[in-house]
Amino acid sequence: MPRGGTAIMGIFEARNAFHSWNSWSKWCRKAYASPPMLPRYSADYRTIVWALLMPVFALTQYARPDLILYLSPVSFYLAMCAGIMAHNHNHCPTFKSRSVNGFFGCWLSVFYGYPTFAWIPTHNLNHHKLVNKAGDATITWRFTDRHNAFVAGTYFFVSAYYQSEPIKAYIRKARKSNRALFRQIVWQYVIWGGSHALLIALAVTLLGFFTGLKVWIFAFGLPAFFALWTMMFFNYVQHVHTDPWSAHNHSRSFTGKLLNFLMFNNGLHAAHHEQAGANWSTLWGLHAKIEGEIHPDLKQKSFWWFCAKSYLLAPIMPRFGTHQVGRAPFDSPTGDAGELKTDEVDAVESGVNAVMA
Ligand SMILES: [Zn+2]
Repeated sequence: MPRGGTAIMGIFEARNAFHSWNSWSKWCRKAYASPPMLPRYSADYRTIVWALLMPVFALTQYARPDLILYLSPVSFYLAMCAGIMAHNHNHCPTFKSRSVNGFFGCWLSVFYGYPTFAWIPTHNLNHHKLVNKAGDATITWRFTDRHNAFVAGTYFFVSAYYQSEPIKAYIRKARKSNRALFRQIVWQYVIWGGSHALLIALAVTLLGFFTGLKVWIFAFGLPAFFALWTMMFFNYVQHVHTDPWSAHNHSRSFTGKLLNFLMFNNGLHAAHHEQAGANWSTLWGLHAKIEGEIHPDLKQKSFWWFCAKSYLLAPIMPRFGTHQVGRAPFDSPTGDAGELKTDEVDAVESGVNAVMA
């Protein structure tokens, strides 16, 4: 072969080698660098472990109903974690793949008791936008601005009632203008409701009607109710008597290390509101940046001491109770009284706060 031919062959070989290396490296990047089944943040390996423990503790009660007394409290805790994880997952999806995220959302919904899409209209698009001001479905001051055990304890029922309207409106709008979202919502209801129907049937088949029902109630039913109740209670204590007009005093944060470990940094609420799309594991760093500018009353080290002060001591010694910090949510700087009617949300709205919509 003439010399020129060899040179051309060399160029072809080099080009082919480059192409095959390029496509190989592309394949490798796709297959290994960002596998859809793995979490986007390494901290979420713990999220996955906690999520896998949920059925273990719940279903062991089916096998050993005599251990309910010991296992059910763990299921209560894990169900509450499912709620926190669903909240985190809606702001910052755990996985890269959309379908794995969808599956994970459904998994969590079985344990914390409601399809995860509901976070979008009531929390991401409404609460994060209005932060306890008029129009927020979850305002802490709907019937009274007083903070005591009765108002905090019954907040769940008030808040759940007023959240039902934006959820229904969101479904209506999705049905009309976003069929893919509507299908996703229907599937979430079917999986959530169907799972519980199957879990009840399984318990009754294995253990008979009364024992089966009792076991389901302690393994799934009551923990899910507790999870929903605590989600709303946290929202209440994190916003009651705070100042939504302020840059950093719009939320109350709980800074205890153990509490935040057990609750995936859910105590660092001011940082969460300011960077809603940030992964929960980055909240300590974000909190450190704004900590100095938060009013001392809105940085509580111990959640339990806060509860003891607010609900046991304050009724006798009011100085232990919470007091409005800065401007009240209903005291608009523009003088506009605001409407208590819940603000409209759009079923096609998107952005950081509506990341899963
Ligand atoms: Zn949030």
